Amino acid sequence: MRKKNVTPRHIAPDKPAEGKDEVLSVTPEAENTLAERETAVFTHEQAVLSREEAATLREDGASLREEGASQREEGAKKREDGASQREEAADLREKVSDVDTKARDKQSSRKQALLREANENLVVATIRAQVMTDAADLATAQMTHMAEHDILTGLPNRMLLTDRLSQAIMLARRHGKKVALMYLDLDHFKNINDSLGHGVGDLLLQSAANRLQACIRHSDTVSRQGGDEFVVLLPEIEEVQGAVHIAEKLIQAMAEPHLIGEHQLNVSLSIGISLYPDDGKNVDAVLRNADAAMFHAKKNGRNNYQVFTTAMNARRATRQAIERGLQQALARERFVLLYQPKVNIDTGTITGAEALLRWRRSNHRLVRPNQFMSIAEDSGLILQIDKWVLYEACRQTQSWLDAGLEIGQIAVNVSARKFLCKEFLADIRAILRETGLEPHYLEIELTESGLMQDTQQTTATLHALKELGVQIAIDNFGTGYSCLNNLCNYPIDTLKIDQSFVQDIDGDTGEAIVRAIIAMGMTFRQRVVAEGIETQRQLAFLQSHRCAEGQGYYFGRPVAAGKFAALLLETTGKPQASELSIS
Ligand code: C2E
Ligand code: MG
Repeated sequence: MRKKNVTPRHIAPDKPAEGKDEVLSVTPEAENTLAERETAVFTHEQAVLSREEAATLREDGASLREEGASQREEGAKKREDGASQREEAADLREKVSDVDTKARDKQSSRKQALLREANENLVVATIRAQVMTDAADLATAQMTHMAEHDILTGLPNRMLLTDRLSQAIMLARRHGKKVALMYLDLDHFKNINDSLGHGVGDLLLQSAANRLQACIRHSDTVSRQGGDEFVVLLPEIEEVQGAVHIAEKLIQAMAEPHLIGEHQLNVSLSIGISLYPDDGKNVDAVLRNADAAMFHAKKNGRNNYQVFTTAMNARRATRQAIERGLQQALARERFVLLYQPKVNIDTGTITGAEALLRWRRSNHRLVRPNQFMSIAEDSGLILQIDKWVLYEACRQTQSWLDAGLEIGQIAVNVSARKFLCKEFLADIRAILRETGLEPHYLEIELTESGLMQDTQQTTATLHALKELGVQIAIDNFGTGYSCLNNLCNYPIDTLKIDQSFVQDIDGDTGEAIVRAIIAMGMTFRQRVVAEGIETQRQLAFLQSHRCAEGQGYYFGRPVAAGKFAALLLETTGKPQASELSIS
C-alpha cells in the first residue's frame, strides 16, 4: 500500500480556499475569524488531504483489494487447482483403492478358495481318517470275533468257551450254584464226510449247530470244539436234572432229518454231562469228565446221554490204551485171521470161508473184534486194519488155491468207513493184483447201515466192484433199516441172515423172518446164507425152507489158517497136507 505524508499548510487569508465557499475577515474578530478561517482552511485542507489520503488510501485499498482479489483469484485458482489435484488425487486414490480393493478382493477370493479347498481337504481327510478308523475298528472286531468263534458255524470256539466256563464256575462258586457242561458228538459223522464229501459235511455241521442253538437259552453257550464235537455250557443250574432235560431236548431236535441239497441226512447225538462242583472243581476237570461221559454214551450205542461217574475215567484210560495197542499191533503185525467155514446146507461141503479178525495180545491171548472194533472205527485205524485184512485174506486164499485146495470164496468184512473211503476201489485192485487172486474168489461183506449212508456213492462203488468181478454180500441182513428199494437196485449176490433170527427159529418171530428173507433172496436171485447155526433143529428148518448155505458153530468155529486148510482137505480130499503152505 502507498503511504502519503500529510503536513499542515498556511493559506493566504484573502484568497478563499480554492473550491471552498467560506470567506475570511481581518478584524480581530476578523482575525479571529481569519484564524478560524485559516484553521478551517487548514482543517479543510486537512480534510482535503485526508480525503486525498483517503482516496489514496482508497486507491491503495482498491489496488490492495485488487491485489487481494487477484491474489484471491490466484488463491481460488490455486484452490481450484488444489481441488482438481485433490480430485485427481482422490480419483487416483479411488483408483488405487479400487485396484487395492480388487486386488484385495482377488486375494481374498483366492484366499477363500484356498481356504475352502483346505477345508474340503480337511473334511475329506477327516472322513477318510474316520473311514479308516471305522475300518480298523471293524477289522479289530472281526479279528477278535474270528479268534473267539468257529468260522464254519459262527459258534464260540474252544477259547471263548473256556473263558465263559471259568467265569461261570466263579459265579457258581459265589452263588452256591452248579454249572453243567455237555460234550456232544455227532454219531457216524465221519462216514458222511467220507462218503458225501466235506462240502455236504460242512453244511450238515451248520445245520446241526443251528438246531443246538435253537434249544438253549440266550445265557447258555453252544460252542464247536472242532470236527463234529460241540460243547453246551449251562451256567447256574440247580441240579443235574436241568442238564438232563436239555440233553433230551437236543437229542430230539437232532433226530429230525437234515435236508442238505438233494440229501436227506439223519444224524444222532451222543452226549456226556459233567457238573461243577460235583464232577470237577475246575475248567479242565469239568471238560475232561464231560468228554469221558460222552465216550461212554458212544459205547452205550450212541444216540443217548450219559452223566459222568468216576468209573468212566478208568474206562476212558482203557480206551486210550486199546487205541495205542491197535497202533502197535498194526506196526508189529499182531493181527491174525481166523477162518470160519461156510457150508452147503444140503451137501455139507465147504463152499468158502469168512475171514474173522483177531488181535493177538502180548500174552498170546486172541481178542475178538467186539472188544476193539468201535475204538478202531472212532480213531480211524479201521482203514488200515481193513486193508490189512483184505490183503491177508486174499494172500491166504491164493496160497490155498496154489496148493490145490478148492475154496469157493473168501468172505471179508469191510467197515462202512473203508467201503466209502476214496481209496477203497484202488486198494482192492492193488490187492488182487499183488496177491494174484482172481476177483470172483473175493466176497465183500457189507452191513445194511453202511450201504444206506450214501446211496449215490454206494451204487457207483458196488457197480465198480461188480465190473471187477468181486462178489457182494449184505451182512447181518434184517438188523439194519434198509430201504428195500435201494437194496433191490444194488448188485447184491448174497444175503446173510443175521444170527439173532436164526437162533430165534425156536422162538416166536425168528421163523417168520428167516422164511421171509429166504423168499426175498429167491425172488431177487440172491444166495442166502444163514449165520450162527448152532443146532440140528435150526439146520432142519433152514433145509426145509431151501436156504442154500449156512455158517455157525454147528459146522465149525472160526479157526486158524492151518486148521482151515485141513478142513478143506478133509472135504475135498485133494492135496496132501504136507503140500500145503500153512501159515
Ligand atoms: P460177523 O461178520 O457177523 O461175523 C460173525 C460173527 O459171529 C463172528 O464173530 C463169529 O465168530 C460169530 N459166530 C459164528 N458162528 C456163530 C455161532 O454159531 N454162534 C455165535 N454165537 N456166534 C457165531 P467175531 O469173529 O467175534 O466177529 C464179530 C464181528 O466183528 C463180525 O460179525 C464182523 O462184523 C466184525 N469183524 C470180524 N472180523 C472183521 C474184519 O476183519 N473187519 C471188519 N471190519 N469187521 C470184522
Ligand atoms: Mg460177517
